[in-house]
Amino acid sequence: MSAKQIAKRKVLRAELIAKLGGVCVRCGFSDERALQFDHINGDGHKEGNRGYSYIRLRNMLNDPNLFDRYQLLCANCNWIKREENKEYRFKYSHTS
Ligand SMILES: [Zn+2]
Repeated sequence: MSAKQIAKRKVLRAELIAKLGGVCVRCGFSDERALQFDHINGDGHKEGNRGYSYIRLRNMLNDPNLFDRYQLLCANCNWIKREENKEYRFKYSHTS
């Protein structure tokens, strides 16, 4: 990615965060460096913030169902939610 694209992506990300309320829906944490987009229904595979491309972010901004699909969570609450929902990225393959 070029520096220009990275800068554009940063702007889009900030816009999306602002649109989604700007704070973690669980604890109110507001430092965007640790805010993540969370799939409300846990659909699709989990992605870290780095997984969101410029195009993906642009599509999210234009998504009429944005508020039904995504919410903001801080990194802490995201991990806690994963733990609660058992949304582990890897399944343990060994058997006892
Ligand atoms: Zn939080």
